[in-house]
Amino acid sequence: MADEALIRALVARACATIAAHKDELTELDQAVGDGDHGLNMARGFAAIAEAEGELAGLTLAAALKKAGMTLVMKVGGASGPLYGTALMEMAKAAEGGEGPLAARLAAAALAGVKARGKSDVGMKTMIETLAPVAEALAAGGGAAEARAAADRGCAATKAMAALKGRAAFLGERAKGHLDPGARSSQLLVHAVCDAVEDAA
Ligand code: ADP
Ligand code: MG
Repeated sequence: MADEALIRALVARACATIAAHKDELTELDQAVGDGDHGLNMARGFAAIAEAEGELAGLTLAAALKKAGMTLVMKVGGASGPLYGTALMEMAKAAEGGEGPLAARLAAAALAGVKARGKSDVGMKTMIETLAPVAEALAAGGGAAEARAAADRGCAATKAMAALKGRAAFLGERAKGHLDPGARSSQLLVHAVCDAVEDAA
C-alpha cells in the first residue's frame, strides 16, 4: 500500500510527542481548565498506536477516518470529538479536491473544528494554532512555514482571554496561560511535518 510508510510515520510521531508532553498538557489544563488534557490526549493516541498495524494497511483517507473515530470513542472531554472531527474531515479531503494535499487537509481540519466547536479564531482554543497553519499552507508554504505558523499561533494564546470551552469560565483570568489545546495542536503540527519528512 502506497500510504503505508506515511501512515506509520504519522502514528509514530504523533503518539510519541503526545506521550512525551502528557504532563505538560495536563499542567496547562490545570491552570485554565480541569487538568485532564494530557490524560485525554494520551489515552486517545495510545489507542491509535495500538491500531497502528491495522491503520498501516489502509489508504491515507481510511486511516484518517479510523483514527478520528478512535479519538471520538476513546477521549472524554471536548478535545476528543474536536480532534476526531478534524481527522474525519481530513479523511474526506484526502480522497480528492482542489490544490495540494497538505493545504486541503489543513483547511479541512480547521473547518471541522470550527463547525464541531461552534468556534472561531480569537477565542483562545486549538483554532489559534490550526488557522495560521492552514493559511500558511494555502499560501504555498511548506513544512517550515507550517511549523512557524503553529508556533506563532500557539504562543499568541498566552495573551488572550478565553471565550470557549472550560477556560471560558475564567475569561480574562485565563490571560497569562497558554491554551492546552493550542499547545497540543502545535505538537501535532510538528509531528505531522516530521512524519512527512520521515516518509519522503
Ligand atoms: P475538556 O475541556 O472537556 O476538559 P480537554 O481538556 O481535553 O477537554 O481539551 C480542552 C481544549 O479543547 C481547550 O484547551 C481548547 O483548545 C479546546 N476546545 C474546547 N472547546 C472548544 C471549542 N468549542 N472549539 C475549539 N476548541 C475547543
Ligand atoms: Mg480539560
